Amino acid sequence: MIDQIKKHREDFDSRVAQAADAEAVNRLRIEFLGKKGHLAQAMQSLRTVPAAEKPAAGKLVNELKQHVERLLGEKSQTFEVKSGKPRESFDTSLPGRREALGSLHPITQTLEEIEAIFHGLGFCVEEGPEIESDYYNFEALNIPKDHPARDMQDTFYIGEETVLRTHTSPVQIHVMERQEPPLRIIAPGRVYRCDSDVSHTPMFHQIEGLMVDEGVSFSHLKSVMNIFVHQVFGKNTSVRFRPSFFPFTCPSAEVDIQCVMCSGKGCRVCSQTGWLEILGAGMVDPAVFEAVGYDSDKWTGFAFGMGIERIAMLKYGINDIRLFFENDLRFLRQF
Ligand SMILES: [Zn+2]
Repeated sequence: MIDQIKKHREDFDSRVAQAADAEAVNRLRIEFLGKKGHLAQAMQSLRTVPAAEKPAAGKLVNELKQHVERLLGEKSQTFEVKSGKPRESFDTSLPGRREALGSLHPITQTLEEIEAIFHGLGFCVEEGPEIESDYYNFEALNIPKDHPARDMQDTFYIGEETVLRTHTSPVQIHVMERQEPPLRIIAPGRVYRCDSDVSHTPMFHQIEGLMVDEGVSFSHLKSVMNIFVHQVFGKNTSVRFRPSFFPFTCPSAEVDIQCVMCSGKGCRVCSQTGWLEILGAGMVDPAVFEAVGYDSDKWTGFAFGMGIERIAMLKYGINDIRLFFENDLRFLRQF
């Protein structure tokens, strides 16, 4: 036993002298001071040592332990000094480091603002699938087979009869199929189109609105749109309706607001017209009501749809839609 401890000590001395880096010191520390290290084993074997030898052997083991601890400590200090790393110190009086808090994406902020406005007008939020059948995306919305919106260039087809939805309008159909009027809903969500430039991305967000009741007229639509625009862009923003065409509404209109950049004087953003298009709307076409089994003599309604990116771009003066999806923190931190 005593011989063995002496051997360990010689072995340790020669190896600690050779240890060239902090890692080597650490290996030695594990080998000698670890749970199953030489010293732990020596302590264990002390039990079987004859009583006469025990005090001497115990003393040697203790000395070896102190020796190993001291030398390893000295050796690792020299490495810390060499590598320029300060010794670990801990000042409990220092203030803690704060977690960096993120913020909501500008699209989410805009969406939540729009949702809050329509909540205030009694609309509730509905959602639908992003993978749609041809029927919900086109057919039930009165979009005939030869309509340009069906062109392969605009629509991502997954199969013969399956598409990535090109708009949030199919949610109207899902809701009307399972719910009787009166109803007031908005349906926000992602939509997909084969298109990419400064004002288009293959995925973007839309929000769809639908109100169905007895006696709903175009003037209801106008007043809801006015309230919406005034809350998002300010009370003094003028709104105008331009006649337009959508297969699922009749009559249909495009809604413009006074240019937010030039206040209507005419600039590059509004192509010198003083107006910016922000959404499409109209009275629900009776053919759509028929597709979901509503009595179009009793019920009337209006629908509208807008791109959330477009609203956010105008609201914050962003000139390239692709900025929203590049995850550049310098951009995102501004909101
Ligand atoms: Zn302008």
